[in-house]
Amino acid sequence: MLTRTCQLFLKLRQFCDKIPFLYRQSDCQAQTVKEMNKLLAEVDPQIVEITAKDLARQQNSLMLIPSENYASRAVMEIQGSILANKYAEGYPGERYYNGCEFMDGVESLAIERAKALFGAEHVNVQPHAGTQANMAAYHALLDPGDTILAMSLSHGGHLSHGDKVNFSGRYYNVVAYGVDAETELIDMETVASLAEQHRPKLIVVGATAYPRHFDFAAWRQVADSVGAYLLADIAHIAGLIAGGVHPDPVPYSDVVTTTTHKTLRGPRGAMIMCKEEHAAKIDRAVFPGLQGGPFLHTIAARAVAFKEASEPEFKTYQEQIVKNAKALAERLMENGFRLVSGGTENHLMLIDLTIKYEKLSGRQAADHLEDAGIIVNKNTIPFDKRKPKTTSGIRLGTPMVTTRGMKEDEMLHIADFITEALENRQKASIKKRIREKVQEFCAQFPIYEYLN
Ligand SMILES: *Cc1c(COP(=O)(O)O)cnc(C)c1O
Repeated sequence: MLTRTCQLFLKLRQFCDKIPFLYRQSDCQAQTVKEMNKLLAEVDPQIVEITAKDLARQQNSLMLIPSENYASRAVMEIQGSILANKYAEGYPGERYYNGCEFMDGVESLAIERAKALFGAEHVNVQPHAGTQANMAAYHALLDPGDTILAMSLSHGGHLSHGDKVNFSGRYYNVVAYGVDAETELIDMETVASLAEQHRPKLIVVGATAYPRHFDFAAWRQVADSVGAYLLADIAHIAGLIAGGVHPDPVPYSDVVTTTTHKTLRGPRGAMIMCKEEHAAKIDRAVFPGLQGGPFLHTIAARAVAFKEASEPEFKTYQEQIVKNAKALAERLMENGFRLVSGGTENHLMLIDLTIKYEKLSGRQAADHLEDAGIIVNKNTIPFDKRKPKTTSGIRLGTPMVTTRGMKEDEMLHIADFITEALENRQKASIKKRIREKVQEFCAQFPIYEYLN
């Protein structure tokens, strides 16, 4: 009898079989090339088996981590292609390697599409990840020891915004802003007075766990009032911005950094957008400042993702993410949970567990939910009394379930699964039953068409 994982394994194999010449180049006489063109499943069944297990996990669980997504098959196809074979240090038209005539086409296409999608003056698509994009922006605009004003990690900022365990906290003088204790919103007057007091050279606006909009025009005003550069880090919300459901930072910011794998739904990677006046400095900071050869295979995948993001369906998708987040948030509140800031305007929300379950930490809650097939993050809440490894909150978001085609009605079920699992967290048999229900529920929404 075939187990479910085993069936998925076979599907994954079929999927590999269907991938065109990029995986199976036409048969060639040379023995070595023949060897190389064996299917992955023949070469390395161990890694395929692990992948098949994770495919099953991704299909069978409710993935509510707001920074993750299911990239399209097209994105993954090109990412696993022959483009991974080429070195191309430098930029289109000025490479340090020969044989880059087609690589230039890939990178230029990615750049042009990103510019069109976001209305940016200049784009660098080479940063390997979001942290590297921020590092490059700092490297371009600052000297070590300069002052940065950014959101504290414990209130929703990112490690690369000056946390003391990160390079950014070691090399720069970081002043942190947080949210207001009452409203749990960022108070622009507080930010303005911190700026006035510390005269930062750079202000960073952006977060990993802030459920509200950023008013970028107001941030520009603060930056101008002290002559600071403004960096908008839109790693989480880039898709919402491209889809027109979140205010746009591009006109107001000197530099905008983003990952490409979160709401933007592309491959793992990042990019930097900036005003023309910073273009040369940003490019030099990425290469040769911080990186060597670009990953052309993922840059090509970024290009594909930008094309997908410029289609009308992508806007509809982003609108649905926000509608779903609202529906999920409202139902969770009806079920007695307290959400930080009282709700959400974007793709994510933070549950403050201390109100409903005083003794339950975010870490424990996330583990109990995983037992029930629901994947969320533990996350600090503003003014959290617990440590970052324990936390008093969980963070959840709707990008992945929305990619699967779920709508508001499904969000009600998800909220109820969460509630039931946490209410019965000490009862393994009930959590197991919920896990089975979650799996059945997920079966109606296959993550990839080959799982149909
Ligand atoms: C995810 C994220 C990053 C960094 O992304 P990595 O690709 O993991 O390095 C940077 N800034 C913000 C706000 C993020 O949410």
